[in-house]
Amino acid sequence: METLRTLEALEREGLIESAAVLADAAQSMAIALTPDMLAAIDRSDSADPIARQFVPSAAETDVAPDELADPIGDDARSPVRGIVHRYPDRVLLKPLHVCPVYCRFCFRREKVGPGGEALSAAELETALGYIRARPQIWETIVTGGDPLMMAPRRLGDLITGLDAIDHLATIRIHSRVPIVDGGRVTDELVAALKPRRAALWLAVHCNHPRELTAAARAALARLADNGIPLIGQTVLLAGVNDDAETLESLMRALVASRVKPYYLHHPDLVRGTGHFRVTIERGQALVKALRGRLSGLAQPAYVLDVPGGHGKVPIGPSYLGDDPDALLVEDAFGGQHRYPR
Ligand SMILES: *Cc1c(COP(=O)(O)O)cnc(C)c1O
Ligand code: SF4
Repeated sequence: METLRTLEALEREGLIESAAVLADAAQSMAIALTPDMLAAIDRSDSADPIARQFVPSAAETDVAPDELADPIGDDARSPVRGIVHRYPDRVLLKPLHVCPVYCRFCFRREKVGPGGEALSAAELETALGYIRARPQIWETIVTGGDPLMMAPRRLGDLITGLDAIDHLATIRIHSRVPIVDGGRVTDELVAALKPRRAALWLAVHCNHPRELTAAARAALARLADNGIPLIGQTVLLAGVNDDAETLESLMRALVASRVKPYYLHHPDLVRGTGHFRVTIERGQALVKALRGRLSGLAQPAYVLDVPGGHGKVPIGPSYLGDDPDALLVEDAFGGQHRYPR
């Protein structure tokens, strides 16, 4: 079984009614649905949360006026090709644009895909040179596209190149591969993820408890057994995980697979993704609901990437209220308590 890459293939699998009807919607982004994610879809559910993430929808042609082509302002912060430098101590490095799946809500949906070119050897050298020349850069976040789509040898060379930059203490890799195509996490790939000096952290992107298939759990176990610290990123998505029960079981499943939930991202203002968006008030209510019922270890920070390239800020609910001569603190069960100023 291969990754499904066309509307016709999705139609043959019975995931869409008609390829012709979706031609316009699908044009704006490549299609990819891995066999593992295909198997995770519940065919009896016409609103299946796994299918919703990867199967194009007619709603993608609805573009609202406040939606943006570059929703988090990467372009304005890109000093050389493949680098985004927004915070003094860390940079993004994007060596390629391909992904194992194409998520219809992707904040880089206008950049990812097989058409997007990988950095050439010379461009990658320029990007590494940019990092090498700036001792304040403490961390490089390798993203894309999906860095674990690189051949293990090329990835190993990149890690070695980064490891040779002495002021770089941390290499962080962001990937969806362990979740959607766990079989790709081979011993060879794991071996490539071993810098000799720097710390390497792996952030995995997972939005629904059913994405943690047997193959995904086995891949996460191989990574954790090899000493790679794992953190989780989830995008809050309408119709996928915007209820407290789903978020709770997702966060529990991540921790049980040795993945520390890191961020719950509020969806970005990406063109044609209004059907995935929830309000910030709804997000805060969900995060609040998790506080009383879920281990602290399993609580992600709810963050918004401020449109225009201003970076991420926590937007979780506040537990502090005002009183004339004291602070009012709300506990996780709704009780109010005074705390001296
Ligand atoms: C998200 C992001 C980071 C990483 O932010 P953290 O809060 O450290 O996870 C760094 N640079 C850019 C440009 C980003 O968009
Ligand atoms: S894997 Fe990540 S970068 Fe690729 S389409 Fe999905 S969200 Fe976007």
